[in-house]
Amino acid sequence: MATKQGVSDRLEAITSSVLQPTAANGVQGRTGPFEEVIAGLTAMITKRREPGTEVLRFPPVMSRALLEKSGYLKSFPHLLGVVSSMHGTEGDIRALVEGRSSGRNWVEALEATDLVLTPAACYPVYPIIAARGDVARSGVIVDVESYCFRREASSELGRMQAFRMREYVCIGAPDTALAFRERWKARANEMATQLGVPFKLAPASDPFFGRAGKLMAMNQVEQALKFELLIPVNSEEDPTACMSFNYHQDHFGSTWGLKTDDGAVAHTACAAFGMDRLAVALFATHGLDLHTWPASVREVLSL
Ligand code: ATP
Ligand code: ZN
Repeated sequence: MATKQGVSDRLEAITSSVLQPTAANGVQGRTGPFEEVIAGLTAMITKRREPGTEVLRFPPVMSRALLEKSGYLKSFPHLLGVVSSMHGTEGDIRALVEGRSSGRNWVEALEATDLVLTPAACYPVYPIIAARGDVARSGVIVDVESYCFRREASSELGRMQAFRMREYVCIGAPDTALAFRERWKARANEMATQLGVPFKLAPASDPFFGRAGKLMAMNQVEQALKFELLIPVNSEEDPTACMSFNYHQDHFGSTWGLKTDDGAVAHTACAAFGMDRLAVALFATHGLDLHTWPASVREVLSL
């Protein structure tokens, strides 16, 4: 077992070599070796895509109204980032940026736009599928990926403010959504084994806001709605969630009027891969030099 000092040296090395720090906490540059690992992981996840899955890619911003309707402000207001911009005439804006606007600096003059920074890749999917009409009880599956933003309070390694999330999302009958999630838990087990990382798959909860949020989180664990694949990065006692497997029940179905072709409200589930966290976990486990990684891991990632 590595000593505490050994662990912190290794984490420090990841932070300043395969990742490059910027002036903003939790916002890093990604180097060539880091992106090689991301590409390998991406291919590994794509290879396991189920037949008939539809691919959708989104930019890292989305409609603020859409996110409000999804209930994000009730659950995670503390993590949200909003796009704001300047308003007014050319003269107003020039005065603001040149610091000549009576007592106001330009930041104070910003106003929220109709956009937010996407906090999870799957939010834009539900209204798109809903607009097409009923889905089969056997479900539709969508493959999404996006850079996501969360205003994280801590900047421990792996807790970034901007990170990539890949997801498979299933919309269908309750048993369809649940079976989908169980299949992905099994595949995740197999993938983590091939990647040669120590891991466990455990019930988990979302970081819900406030005191009421604690109850929601307890309920989530009790009903086994969320599982995480955890890999030790910062410590063995508090391993890092690198994938999550979520059963949303009828939350998105009711919100967006999603129905199965028998008239029932559709249920949804998703399997989410924290791409940057997975890469960080691999460097933390196998070291900084890709050439010295175990041959089987290099092979599965096509390195
Ligand atoms: P955590 O338990 O760490 O707070 P979460 O439960 O909020 O994460 P999900 O909403 O399930 O995470 O997001 C799916 C995946 O995205 C996570 O399993 C993780 O791998 C990744 N992820 C979430 N937040 C971050 C972050 N701040 N930085 C990097 N990756 C993240
Ligand atoms: Zn999701």
